[in-house]
Amino acid sequence: MSLTVKFWGVRGSLPSSPSPYDWTNHIEGLLRGFFNAGLREPNQVTKYIESLGTAHLGGYGAATTCVEVRSAKNRIIIDGGSGIRSLSEQIMSGKAGASKGPFHIFMTHFHWDHIIGLPFFVPHFVPGVQVHYYAVQEDLEKLIRGVFLRPYFPVAFESLAAKIHFHVIEPREPLQLDDMTITPYKLDHPDACWGYRVECNKKVYSHCVDTEGTRVSREEMGADLPLYQKIDLMYFDAQYTFPELAEKANWGHSASQVGLDIAFREGVKHLLFAHHDPGASIQQVQELKRQTLEYYDWRLNTAKENNETLSAVQWDFAYEGLTLKL
Ligand SMILES: [Zn+2]
Ligand SMILES: [Zn+2]
Repeated sequence: MSLTVKFWGVRGSLPSSPSPYDWTNHIEGLLRGFFNAGLREPNQVTKYIESLGTAHLGGYGAATTCVEVRSAKNRIIIDGGSGIRSLSEQIMSGKAGASKGPFHIFMTHFHWDHIIGLPFFVPHFVPGVQVHYYAVQEDLEKLIRGVFLRPYFPVAFESLAAKIHFHVIEPREPLQLDDMTITPYKLDHPDACWGYRVECNKKVYSHCVDTEGTRVSREEMGADLPLYQKIDLMYFDAQYTFPELAEKANWGHSASQVGLDIAFREGVKHLLFAHHDPGASIQQVQELKRQTLEYYDWRLNTAKENNETLSAVQWDFAYEGLTLKL
């Protein structure tokens, strides 16, 4: 095992969860499912729950983008969406006491859904803690200082007890942090957004959120092609359905079919879709899943008919709290 990736927030644009009425309908559906399956006894409940899977039962989560990537010696955090609050809770409640870090936070870009959790990352307020921020964007320091700005947040940047460091990093230049190599590559988004290729012991995680995936061919991807090649796990923006993608051109988000095409061509082993729309219910994400499966099967069958060699790609839609080991 070289890398462990935990998805603390997978929603896009704005933290949002199904309403109490939606949950009530959802739970009614689950209860009906239990009885329709011919089950009657309390001791059959666990088996029924296990047969459904976490996302089918509990949904995809409310929190926005925050991903933790761990290796044997290091840990980085990609983006500070509202999901970083739960990570912060885990850090502060460790068995051996609160972790002193250092913490390495890599920013893709500075849209609200990627920074909204940063003021709730408690290590910022702990004396002796070192927090390092990294981004390609040259105004990184100004942008992070702006998150801790009164009256939007009651604690001004100057009052933070931790020591905060800023590192403006070079596009497409590998950065070594202990046993991890992190390289930023450009994504397709209205305000410049940088994905990350994270490598350790020949295992590679590729972070591709937020992106519209407008550059499709290898020629178009150009210098950013390594973000999609020799990848064990790719995290890809699939906020929209394929028809929506045309309606919402230049909004900066993609569809699962675009990610699958890249994955098939480049031999990506595992693909995880995220940046779920704030308005997407559990059923709507499941409908996206159904459409993705339809496309996946069609693509494999067409390849077979044309004697094209296509390797299978493992894929799913990410849910909050999901942890994968590479
Ligand atoms: Zn976003
Ligand atoms: Zn964005």
